[in-house]
Amino acid sequence: MSDLIRLTAAETAAAVASGAASAVEVAQAHLDRISEVDERVHAFLHVDTEGALAAAAAVDSARAAGATLSPLAGVPLALKDVMTQKGIPTTCGSRILEGWRPPYDSTVTARLKAAGVVILGKTNMDEFAMGSSTEHSAYGPTHNPWDLDRIPGGSGGGSAAAVAAFEAPLAIGTDTGGSIRQPAAVTGTVGVKPTYGAVSRYGLVALASSLDQAGPCARTVLDAALLHATIAGHDPLDSTSFDGPVPDVVGAALRADVQGMRIGVVKELSGEGYQAGVQQRFDEAVALLTGMGAEVVEVSCPNFPYALAAYYLILPSECSSNLAKFDGMRFGLRVGEDDGDPSVEQVMGRTRAAGFGAEAIRRIMLGTYALSAGYYDAYYGQAQKVRTLIARDFAAAFEQVDVLISPTAPTTAFKLGEKLDDPLAMYLNDVATIPANLAGIPGMSLPAGLAPEDGLPVGLQIMAPAMADDRLYNVGAALEAALLSNWGRPILQEAPSL
Ligand code: GLN
Repeated sequence: MSDLIRLTAAETAAAVASGAASAVEVAQAHLDRISEVDERVHAFLHVDTEGALAAAAAVDSARAAGATLSPLAGVPLALKDVMTQKGIPTTCGSRILEGWRPPYDSTVTARLKAAGVVILGKTNMDEFAMGSSTEHSAYGPTHNPWDLDRIPGGSGGGSAAAVAAFEAPLAIGTDTGGSIRQPAAVTGTVGVKPTYGAVSRYGLVALASSLDQAGPCARTVLDAALLHATIAGHDPLDSTSFDGPVPDVVGAALRADVQGMRIGVVKELSGEGYQAGVQQRFDEAVALLTGMGAEVVEVSCPNFPYALAAYYLILPSECSSNLAKFDGMRFGLRVGEDDGDPSVEQVMGRTRAAGFGAEAIRRIMLGTYALSAGYYDAYYGQAQKVRTLIARDFAAAFEQVDVLISPTAPTTAFKLGEKLDDPLAMYLNDVATIPANLAGIPGMSLPAGLAPEDGLPVGLQIMAPAMADDRLYNVGAALEAALLSNWGRPILQEAPSL
């Protein structure tokens, strides 16, 4: 295994900038790693060898010509398959988009390219980002690099697994209810959902437009900050894009000082229902924060127990509307047009029945029902009211504390297949991550160590007020450093099963 794949993104960029390694060598090392392990991990749906090597060569030429390189120039990255990339297959983990090559780059993709980031390929995901295990991908599940019989989280399991398996130091995920943070938690990586509106949604195939947000996946907090700074910022192509300065996330990651900070432990997001080893690592992290001079208090958010129910009305409602455009007429798959003399509606029906998997169909039906005349107020309207109450809980909490913390997920990675037939059990994985999406606030998951009972990674979640994403990085980096020195062993050790 080449040493180049062990470097962090920051180290890789420095090596490329100094000439210690060429961007092409770095890209090739990661492509080799993908060839070596991805048959077992299945993080990628598409690997763009040619495109990656060409992008890397362009960085090397720019350097040779004396150009100033941007902070992530020459660093390889894996892109979640929900982001458009011009000319590259984009399936969103669904059969219905099979064969579609978007004619344009998402804003995130365009910013990565402009920064000289080397896009290696597209990563596996639950169909249209619906799921917590990547098992709802039409292209087969991704396997957790820590234990190949276990789930890598979802929906962005491919992005998290690629980073955990050293196939890429960076990845892009999207988080509508936890799809960056929960995969990060169960793969021992760092994942951040920025404030809603901080990163453009242009070219992010929409699941639930009022909740979707793209963000970074990495192995260190600083790497996540560097990627965050690269993709964030106002975009006139997204009407919900925030038109204000991007918080100094890189500066915050470098500062890493929690002295005098007020940190709230969310009472409703721990204890009962949380695996003992998850709770234990979380409690140890709390003690570390106190030891570093933070003031840690318990904070109650009384409406959080209703967040999951509200989310599972709002999300299906929005997704039933967003997925209506996949009708066999405009994108990807078209089924049954030569079978008899079908009407347009019949072709649409056949295409959707063949192209969508069970979870997508379940949510489209739930959402259509929740929005239907006579039920709209009782379901969708009521859920929106709960959403307001959740936002108020956060607002009240942030009057008392600077950031809130909780375990990211109730358990470590579960076995593939374990929850596939029980949608509610699957949904419960997101109990701790969903409130942040409903309120639009930023959240980070970072590794808090391994659970003693199963040796699998545990994630700790940090949440901050809207547009205070820098606080996540400050607290995250401080905790990351403390965890390393406290345990005297690298959290970034190679995932053992590879
Ligand atoms: N697991 C959640 C769901 O199934 C979150 C999905 C997401 O964040 N994209 O909806």
